[in-house]
Amino acid sequence: MVEDLGLEGDFRITFTHGLSNDTLAYYKDHRIDYNDAFLSTAKEPDMLNAVFHECFHAYQEVVSNVYTDLLEQGVRVDKMPDFERVSEYIDAYGTYASDSATGFASYEANRLEYYARAFAESQVAKLASVI
Ligand SMILES: [Zn+2]
Repeated sequence: MVEDLGLEGDFRITFTHGLSNDTLAYYKDHRIDYNDAFLSTAKEPDMLNAVFHECFHAYQEVVSNVYTDLLEQGVRVDKMPDFERVSEYIDAYGTYASDSATGFASYEANRLEYYARAFAESQVAKLASVI
């Protein structure tokens, strides 16, 4: 079945009218905001994809913060296999704004987006295989 990202805590989900048509949803500061125009017209697999995608961005933020906190405490998590991708996430935060401003191809190639898209697609495929 779908993967449990282990996210718990104070996460909010909101729905906004009037977001750009290019934005289906976004994650920021423990909040996933969905474009209500997208949700009112999207097919179920696309909705699920957006949910999984934004949840993975929440996961990326949480695990990046844990990684940074541990490094600051002197714990060498950068050598641990479970944190292998996290340094990629942190690097990608650094280029996210410029990648997004450069165009859709570079936005899509940003490693935060790449991994969120891969996660969402794999989870939707898992659900589709059991329906
Ligand atoms: Zn994204």
